[in-house]
Amino acid sequence: MDGTLLQAAEAATGFMPPAEGLALYETALAAGSGVVLEVGTYCGKSTLYLAAAARETASTVVTVDHHRGSEENQAGWEYHDTTLVDPATGRLDTLPHLRRSLEAAAVEDVVVAVVGRSEQVGRIWSTPAAMLFLDGGHSEEQAQADYEAWWRHVAPGGLLAIHDVFPDPADGGQAPFHVLERAVREGSFTETRTVGSLRVLRRTAR
Ligand code: SAH
Ligand code: MG
Repeated sequence: MDGTLLQAAEAATGFMPPAEGLALYETALAAGSGVVLEVGTYCGKSTLYLAAAARETASTVVTVDHHRGSEENQAGWEYHDTTLVDPATGRLDTLPHLRRSLEAAAVEDVVVAVVGRSEQVGRIWSTPAAMLFLDGGHSEEQAQADYEAWWRHVAPGGLLAIHDVFPDPADGGQAPFHVLERAVREGSFTETRTVGSLRVLRRTAR
């Protein structure tokens, strides 16, 4: 991966361990030219790994987030970061931080940021994607809604990556793991790779 982008990705605020980020980059590279969809932008850490691949494959990354944070990012929760609060409103706002990440890493030309609720955007989306990365809200309801809204946009033969998959409840929340199980059970995807909590699947049918 391009050294400057790797540095920017590792320095960016967010939730993507380096080894999983690299695997994400390799997955986007393997997906080849086309559209790479990301659900759950936050401040753009994972986006930079995807952007590095997109730069090489002449792809476009479309990353979707309402930029108000997930439940666990709100005040009083485990992953709340007071530096991401908009002082004018008191609400979480990660969009300015994303814009700075993209600008500093010089990837504004390969990344399109969509601001909105992922399930709403997914329902009106219609371009087949070479790759879909699911890393949005991790409540059971939200994770399932994201899968339902987005899975069919993965082109046949395309790749699906799911983050924060923890088969053992002692390691973390179960919703992304349930989404993985569902993707396999419903027969649309086959698992191809695991790196940490990142799972990669290929769309095989239906
Ligand atoms: N991929 C990021 C981390 C994403 S955190 C990284 O590498 O650091 C999860 C993100 O999902 C948060 O930014 C939150 O705002 C977003 N999110 C949660 N529910 C959402 C929804 N219904 N629609 C859009 N975004 C949502
Ligand atoms: Mg994650």
